[in-house]
Amino acid sequence: MSELAVKAEKLDAADELSVLRERFVLDDVVYLDGNSLGALPVSVPGRVDDVVRRQWGELRIRSWEESGWWTAPERIGDRIAPLVGAAPGQIVVGDSTSVNVFKALVAAVRMAGAGRDEIVVDATTFPTDGYIAESAARMTGCTLRPVVPAEAPGVLSGRTAAVLLNHLDDRTCRLHDLSGLTAAVHEAGAVVVWDLCHSAGALPVGLDEHGVDLAVGCTYKYLNGGPGSPAYLYVRADLQDRFDSPLPGWNSHADPFGMRTAYEPGAGAVRGRVGTPDILSMLALEAALEVWDDVSVEVVRAKSLALTDFFLECVGEYVPEGRVESLTPAAHEERGSQVALRCPDAGEVMRRLIERGVVGDFRHPDVLRFGFTPLYVGFADVERAARVLGEVLGKLA
Ligand SMILES: *Cc1c(COP(=O)(O)O)cnc(C)c1O
Repeated sequence: MSELAVKAEKLDAADELSVLRERFVLDDVVYLDGNSLGALPVSVPGRVDDVVRRQWGELRIRSWEESGWWTAPERIGDRIAPLVGAAPGQIVVGDSTSVNVFKALVAAVRMAGAGRDEIVVDATTFPTDGYIAESAARMTGCTLRPVVPAEAPGVLSGRTAAVLLNHLDDRTCRLHDLSGLTAAVHEAGAVVVWDLCHSAGALPVGLDEHGVDLAVGCTYKYLNGGPGSPAYLYVRADLQDRFDSPLPGWNSHADPFGMRTAYEPGAGAVRGRVGTPDILSMLALEAALEVWDDVSVEVVRAKSLALTDFFLECVGEYVPEGRVESLTPAAHEERGSQVALRCPDAGEVMRRLIERGVVGDFRHPDVLRFGFTPLYVGFADVERAARVLGEVLGKLA
């Protein structure tokens, strides 16, 4: 056994989260793609079966009340809340992240004072956020200013209405300074919207603590909600009355069953709703969130950093010199729960890794991405992934 394999064994033995692996359906593949689609929690299939056969099949329409379907978006929002540092009553679950980015960004511009006609957007963002920001800017008569997050403070002014930022750059895996950037946006009198897709469930976010205005995130990555599981929208409690949704559907009405002609928004997180919630996905997500019942995000973060540190150490040991270049910041405060390695033939390399049971993903044109979900990835997995990468790269060299 190599020195690193021995070290991995010791780290796994000392890892208090290692027992959580039993809560997921896993096989002998090293699954490092939980930052795209989290693994299936053991609790989900039985719950989905009950929701379909009993709640829908037998109770039918009664389930909107009796099975708690109607209140699910806020109830599940409150389950996500502690994972992102939010007090209850501020998060609603529903729709996709893309749709929630739209709601949040247009609402942010509407909240900003008169004379503010610029939207600042993270230029390195996940494409969907950029496309939606461009459309939101056109709709609200704003000018769009794309900048890299670190340079955002420099372009803020009395004309800035809203700022849309990603907590994590999903290509380089750089973590942005949520607290500092939020403070800078507030100093300029503007409204900030954070996209938490790659941080919720992987690290503490501290939405309330840092005074974030609005935030969105998906639930199928580190929250393991399943393919296409609904996203969430956070609106800080004191801003909810001013949240003027560009998609004011009947589900967000103060009296949805009054079927009134005139729209009157409901109070609280409900205001972020649009139409009938996707109950099957939503209740699968609710079962998936049970995994977190006795888990602390701080402990998850500590393990995540230990995993990525150990991966970089193993890559340094096993991968031929100069064959890959890490895009991931070395400083812990600038690192998310994934590692990006630049490698000229990344597409072919990832194909071979997957063939050999190490699943990460490839980002065009030359990036290998490895996501480390602390709930079910262990140190022996990390050692194996780096070793196989070294073998594949040695052969391709
Ligand atoms: C995954 C991801 C999305 C996904 O948006 P969908 O509407 O769920 O497809 C959006 N933004 C970021 C930053 C992401 O990482």
